[in-house]
Amino acid sequence: MILSDFHLHTTFSDGKNTPEQMVQKALELGLNKMGFSDHSPTFFDKSYCIKKENLNLYRETINDLKHKYADKIKIYCGIEQDFYSDEKTDDYDYVIGSVHYVKVSEDYIAVDESADSFKAAVSKYFDGDALSFAEAYFETVKRVLEETNADIIGHFDLISKFNDQGLFDESDKRYIAAWKGAADELLKYKKTFEINTGAISRGYKKEPYPSKDILNYLKDNGAKFVLSSDAHSTDAICFNFDKLKDLIIR
Ligand SMILES: [Zn+2]
Ligand SMILES: [Zn+2]
Repeated sequence: MILSDFHLHTTFSDGKNTPEQMVQKALELGLNKMGFSDHSPTFFDKSYCIKKENLNLYRETINDLKHKYADKIKIYCGIEQDFYSDEKTDDYDYVIGSVHYVKVSEDYIAVDESADSFKAAVSKYFDGDALSFAEAYFETVKRVLEETNADIIGHFDLISKFNDQGLFDESDKRYIAAWKGAADELLKYKKTFEINTGAISRGYKKEPYPSKDILNYLKDNGAKFVLSSDAHSTDAICFNFDKLKDLIIR
């Protein structure tokens, strides 16, 4: 039985439910540990992150819940630190390091917005070559621990979010070389990779991040894993964990 979930969003960033609603749902589900990980601010995109002026309130709110529910569930206050966020992370119990953008000259290009924005970025910045976008993404992912000093590597292959629509070929040797380059670098840190079901619960993908081939490669090279829902609402907490738990029990 799965008893924890450490990738949870709330109304402090782009989630639909308050932290306390998330706690109540977690209790209903029988969790004994949970961690909040709202999005750290980035200077160029304010729409989905915690507002800078609310960072203290975020920590205080989670802290209050820690105490209020101390006899029922252990609550952690984390942060999902974007590669391009310059906020410090010392005041959190743990950090998820995630790449949501690729920087090309002075522009920050969202990786996970929509299939249409993906295609537009490919034609505007990558000469129509979707694999170049993927290569630029993994070059950034490769440095995510160096940059964020995270404990957990978030959705390693987020670039594949809309690829059930056939945006690029994941069996292409360029794609494989790109993710292997990032994986080999990150494996050196002995940190934990997520198995993230967020794109399944939101209907974008049938499989979690990372894809099977990547997951097997990471496993064969000794990676540790944690199941993450990346829930943006109460109904997605621990989404599909019961189906995936065998993946992390080795
Ligand atoms: Zn994320
Ligand atoms: Zn997230």
